[in-house]
Amino acid sequence: MSPHHPKISDSVITIPALGDNFIYLYRYNQSSALVVDPSDASLVLNILKESALDLTTVLATHHHWDHTAGTIELKEKTGCKVIGPDKQRIPGIDCVVKDGEILTIGNIKIQVIDTPGHTRTAVCYYVQPSNNNKNGILWTGDTLFIGGCGRILECDARSMWDSLLKLASLPDDTLIYCGHDYTVENYQFALSIEPDNQAVKQCLSEVRQAQRAGRQTVPSTMSRERTTNPFLRADTPELKTALNMPQAQALEVFAELRRRKDVF
Ligand SMILES: [Zn+2]
Repeated sequence: MSPHHPKISDSVITIPALGDNFIYLYRYNQSSALVVDPSDASLVLNILKESALDLTTVLATHHHWDHTAGTIELKEKTGCKVIGPDKQRIPGIDCVVKDGEILTIGNIKIQVIDTPGHTRTAVCYYVQPSNNNKNGILWTGDTLFIGGCGRILECDARSMWDSLLKLASLPDDTLIYCGHDYTVENYQFALSIEPDNQAVKQCLSEVRQAQRAGRQTVPSTMSRERTTNPFLRADTPELKTALNMPQAQALEVFAELRRRKDVF
């Protein structure tokens, strides 16, 4: 199996696109699927055809083209509905979502979590646990990455930190599916801050192994992110010590980490 061939057996189908983006197709019943951040319509259409799935819904996390470029074509070819947080900037949008809203798609419930920071309008989508999926599923776009977080482009550090804290309050076993594969680079950055962090070393070795075996580096879990992602650990004494900021508030530590990552 080629490293870029998506895995089709699970309900979440991870489709690598555009070099380091991830598109997610989620089969929510026998014959229907939704797609998250479809940057490339043809990749999605091929899998829909192979798997005999109807596309009903596009979920957009934010407006950037590398998350939305395939949206119009998918809408034209499948008649799917486009859902997202930005009426002006998301192409083809039918329904603008708000923080805390629960979307019902088939039998699944998806909670919208407003997460400004990377962009002014950005949301994550949390599929609540059910009989079909005992773990919750979180699509994080460019807010939370495996071992990292998104660049702060349209907001301040406080907005991003508050958004990450909201995500960090989800259950330990939540499966995290993010918008880009920056995983190895993120763990390398984490080790540049805490060279002796054994948990991060272990994760780096696991993801390198996964890549060699042609597997994706997603999903992670919320418990793993809380213990290894430096951006979620800005409030810990270990991180404060590593940055030589023992008295600093979590927000200042987070902002310093983000500044360092921007030039890493
Ligand atoms: Zn983005």
